[in-house]
Amino acid sequence: MDLRSEFPYWSIRNGLLHAYPSLQQSVRTDVAVIGAGITGALISYRLMEAGLSVVVTDRRHVGMGSTSASTALLQYEIDTHLTQLAEWYGLPAAREAYSLCLEAIDRVHDLCREVGVGQDFRYAPSLYYATFRKDLPDLYREYQARRAAGIGVEWIDEALFRRLYPFSAPGAILSEKAAEVDPYRLAHALLERVAAAGNGVHNQTEIVRVTEKRGGVELETGDGHRITAGYLVVAAGYESERWLGKQPGRLHSSYALVSEPTGRQELWKDNCLMWETARPYLYFRTTTDGRVIAGGRDDTFQSPGKRDRRVFAKSRQLEADVRKRFPELPFRTDFCWAGTFAETEDGLPFIGRHPGHPRTWFSMGFGGNGITFSSVAADSIAQEIAGVKKTVPAIFSFHRKRK
Ligand SMILES: Cc1cc2nc3c(=O)[nH]c(=O)nc-3n(C[C@H](O)[C@H](O)[C@H](O)COP(=O)(O)OP(=O)(O)OC[C@H]3O[C@@H](n4cnc5c(N)ncnc54)[C@H](O)[C@@H]3O)c2cc1C
Repeated sequence: MDLRSEFPYWSIRNGLLHAYPSLQQSVRTDVAVIGAGITGALISYRLMEAGLSVVVTDRRHVGMGSTSASTALLQYEIDTHLTQLAEWYGLPAAREAYSLCLEAIDRVHDLCREVGVGQDFRYAPSLYYATFRKDLPDLYREYQARRAAGIGVEWIDEALFRRLYPFSAPGAILSEKAAEVDPYRLAHALLERVAAAGNGVHNQTEIVRVTEKRGGVELETGDGHRITAGYLVVAAGYESERWLGKQPGRLHSSYALVSEPTGRQELWKDNCLMWETARPYLYFRTTTDGRVIAGGRDDTFQSPGKRDRRVFAKSRQLEADVRKRFPELPFRTDFCWAGTFAETEDGLPFIGRHPGHPRTWFSMGFGGNGITFSSVAADSIAQEIAGVKKTVPAIFSFHRKRK
């Protein structure tokens, strides 16, 4: 699958940070990980911390899949409201989903500092505004549900919104905790540590066959080498379908742009992350060097050719979206790109073992919170494989059932 158009921002900004050799011999390890994007990197790092040996393989280079195309807003706010999840799965499970995502933001912060990319992580509040007046009652109910769950939120009414922000909206939830990150640099920094500890990290190594056996798994690479492991973690992003036998989400196309540096430190109040109640939604964030990132304008098809032909037209629409909301901001597009994007019916990821694959864990963080979900997955999968405890939350598992 062609996961993204050319010139996604993070790989242009950072270049090829580190190249790893392809796997040219057969090896044994405790855990094999398919995929060296942000998910595979987080999981491998946590497995290493748990004292397990790891071999990570990627058919591309580290971070060159969806990770390089991500706009990387880190939010606890799942695309599906807490109120809706509570109706489907019960209030305790819905609150657990939200609070795990909230904790994940701090976990990623701590990791960024630990592996030396703290300067690319920035905490920022998140503003979730009503696109239409008709969305207001639901949004207010959502605000109340989050407050009752102990989440740090404030209600911004129409008059206050107008005073604080450069455009108007009928109301909004302002959340204290959200963040921005450079996911490509983080993936590289994590895997550099994984490799430095003597584990295998291999670019340009496609896994073409997986066989589950009693007591382990055997992976075969495109070059005919074998990886024999106790367990397998599939962190292959939107290409995980091959190992599951079905695609558990719908594939769409999404578009993004980044502006030239605006020369400003504060582009709007607190440089908060912004998104809206419309579906598909528009969203905005800033970067540490004063740029705007805008994204959205999603299409429901997945065809990479059709998607990439639309990048410039979509970029003009996104530019108009930015100018309409931030008319005072000096704004010129620097780069624009497109990526495949997947979402599940309920907006939740699939994390854990599938009944048909007892020695294989999946981390499929589909939805707008892909990176937050990957962090939750990394913590829980590593603990389960290390035998510490069963921690994959039921609401993120393949077994979850609506009421
Ligand atoms: C435009 C856009 C904007 C986004 N914005 C956000 C956002 O603001 N916040 C957020 O949290 N998420 C966002 N996402 C989603 C987020 O980018 C993804 O959830 C995340 O990048 C997934 O990381 P990953 O490591 O699972 O996948 P990937 O980065 O795609 O990594 C998977 C890797 O697996 C490898 N692979 C696949 N099959 C094989 C095989 N057979 N053998 C070997 N290797 C294989 C691939 O080459 C790939 O490198 C966005 C996505 C897009 C496209």
